[in-house]
Amino acid sequence: MRTRLGLCGVAPYTGKGCTEPLWQTVTPAGVDFPQLVGTIKTDVLIIGAGFTGLSAAMMLRQQGVEATILEAQEPGAGASGRNSGLVIPTLTRPDPDDIIRNYGASGERFVALLRDCADGLFEIASTFGLDRQAEQSGWLQPAHTPGRMVLIERRAAQWRKWGARVEVLDRGQTRHAIGSEMWFGGLLNNSGGIVNPLALVRAMAKATSDAGGRIYAQTPALSLDREADCWHVTTTRGEVRAKSLIVATNAYTDAISKTLLPDVAREIVPVTSWLAATEPLPETVRRSILPTRLAMSDTRGDLHFARYDADHRLISGGAVVNPVDRPSRLKLLISSRLERMWPQTRGLKIEFVWNGRIGMTPDRFPRFHSIGPNAFAWAGCNGRAVALSIAVGRELAKASIGVPLEKIALPFSSPAPLLAQTFIRWVSPLALLHYRRIDAKEYERSS
Ligand SMILES: Cc1cc2nc3c(=O)[nH]c(=O)nc-3n(C[C@H](O)[C@H](O)[C@H](O)COP(=O)(O)OP(=O)(O)OC[C@H]3O[C@@H](n4cnc5c(N)ncnc54)[C@H](O)[C@@H]3O)c2cc1C
Repeated sequence: MRTRLGLCGVAPYTGKGCTEPLWQTVTPAGVDFPQLVGTIKTDVLIIGAGFTGLSAAMMLRQQGVEATILEAQEPGAGASGRNSGLVIPTLTRPDPDDIIRNYGASGERFVALLRDCADGLFEIASTFGLDRQAEQSGWLQPAHTPGRMVLIERRAAQWRKWGARVEVLDRGQTRHAIGSEMWFGGLLNNSGGIVNPLALVRAMAKATSDAGGRIYAQTPALSLDREADCWHVTTTRGEVRAKSLIVATNAYTDAISKTLLPDVAREIVPVTSWLAATEPLPETVRRSILPTRLAMSDTRGDLHFARYDADHRLISGGAVVNPVDRPSRLKLLISSRLERMWPQTRGLKIEFVWNGRIGMTPDRFPRFHSIGPNAFAWAGCNGRAVALSIAVGRELAKASIGVPLEKIALPFSSPAPLLAQTFIRWVSPLALLHYRRIDAKEYERSS
């Protein structure tokens, strides 16, 4: 029996008041992949069919390498099919200078990868004809205080050095771009934009399978061992032996099997991020809000962000601290936030409320690992890896077929599980209160 994406059990919360992710409703059904039954061999085994795993498989098939994906549920069941689809070619932090200071030559390669990752995503989407579902309309990061414009200027200068298509908007230009007085200027990255992530996942899964890649759905990898000269993975009804391995389970690494890669699972803190989508906006209102349909997410710790889907629904979201009736609280939070940003949204109905897991790292930098002979993994998307994970998948694919790590555009490190990760995980929702206090203080100081 197929598990429905919105009721998948891997999501942190699917209770009363939650809907399926918007994308599940507006996206045509994907290919129905079989479950693995029996024993198979493959060159490269990939665990997880999100952007990372699918992009790796597509790359491997282009090179004529045998690639097999095991997915616990169905492609896109993790973050890739349930995110907000803001295509952002930067990390929250650090910026390029710090990345290079920390990681040297591999940091330089990584900065170039980041710079180009949004272009890469839109190129793929365009080959699939997803034009209505993927718009390279730009990503704007508006500053919530005048002080934050210093950060914006610095960030823009660093990215310009790297040839990124960025510009700094003043307050008037930002007001015009967003249709709101709330911000003081901003950084526009013209290579960013918006995507229906599930449409892209499903197109990538079909392309992988059309190119001869094997995808098994409803097939959780339960254990992982090194056996003589190959990797041995067991599933509920089968097993796989592979020369190389890519673990592309990201924030969901311990959601299905606690023993799959415990050290990688424990170096991130999975947090629940909530999304909401309104009913489609009337034409008159729509023209006054994000008129060029760009993606926006601001400089607050308690991020304010928004984008349209193809049918002009506004999508936004956030986190809720109080665990009681989270979907209703989220609806109230987002309605009043949207109304503060755009008073003309008052009374708009919120039709979808859903959530997913984001893997946070303390320094907001993702972690890339070689986990054994010809075996690779990454984690720590920090909510900024729709485009990045596609680029990372390609790099992991190259590494899995023997390209030397010095040529891979990822700074590799050893897994470093967080001390007291269980406790941090438990108290992590409270961090939001801290971010809100800092945001408010910064605002008071500047006004
Ligand atoms: C609510 C939300 C909003 C976000 N918004 C944005 C955004 O606007 N912009 C942005 O850049 N980033 C955003 N992100 C982050 C982005 O979605 C992720 O970085 C990206 O999708 C990660 O892709 P992935 O393929 O690495 O992991 P995932 O898509 O999470 O894929 C992991 C897969 O592994 C599978 N799996 C887990 N365990 C096993 C197992 N044992 N066996 C087999 N399969 C297994 C899961 O079912 C899942 O399908 C958001 C994330 C969330 C949750």
